[in-house]
Amino acid sequence: MHPGDWRLINGENIEAIPAALARARGNATARALAGSDWLIRQKNNGRFLALRRGDIVREFTRRALNADVRADLAALVDADAAGEASRPLSGLLERLHALGLDEVAYGESTGLALVAEPHVLGYAGRDRYRRPLWLAKSATRGWQRMRRAALSDDIVLEAISGYRSHDYQLGIFRRKLARGQAVAEILAVNAAPGYSEHHGGRALDIGTPAEPPAEESFERTPAFAWLQRNAAAHGFVLSYPRDNPHGIVYEPWHWCWRGA
Ligand SMILES: [Zn+2]
Repeated sequence: MHPGDWRLINGENIEAIPAALARARGNATARALAGSDWLIRQKNNGRFLALRRGDIVREFTRRALNADVRADLAALVDADAAGEASRPLSGLLERLHALGLDEVAYGESTGLALVAEPHVLGYAGRDRYRRPLWLAKSATRGWQRMRRAALSDDIVLEAISGYRSHDYQLGIFRRKLARGQAVAEILAVNAAPGYSEHHGGRALDIGTPAEPPAEESFERTPAFAWLQRNAAAHGFVLSYPRDNPHGIVYEPWHWCWRGA
């Protein structure tokens, strides 16, 4: 697969990424990935399920592909064809209710809206941690242009985090609940699952070398000063300034693609 075609195909419970982008745990896995086009993995825990080469799908472990997963797998082809169109929210609402979150009350109190995931995300290079960075396709190009423009002013912008699935945000929530935090406490720091701009592939947490990620101190860096002057011209807007009406803590690192 040509790197220009690299994309994440987003299903309900599973997703496909180019096998060339997957990080192998062990030599056997590395060899299997090297001979494949696509890696299919579970969204909520990242578990490798299967590899695909041409039309041939091979399970990673026996019975990795049960009947449910096979149905999801068949739907991935349709998801790919649907491009950047939004996925339905149905599965998310069920999972929110299971956490005891009332989406109507939450939406009213925060002014935040549910954010659907796209069917397909574009590859935007790597983040600070060398992980693949996924964004909506138009945001991918916007980010790459903005990064080059910053570099020509001797400013290095690094991506900390781009697209995150509903399942990923649910995982953060479940881990914090398990550590004994109250829902209200978690909501002061994390948007409820389904309400993060990261789900739509349009939000980007931005950092700069030698600065800790996602800290308020980012606002004192030349990189932040550059973003304040130039991000809007590149289609990016600061989503959560100080005292924002959503009750979300000030996030100088979180920028959202609104289109150039
Ligand atoms: Zn963010």
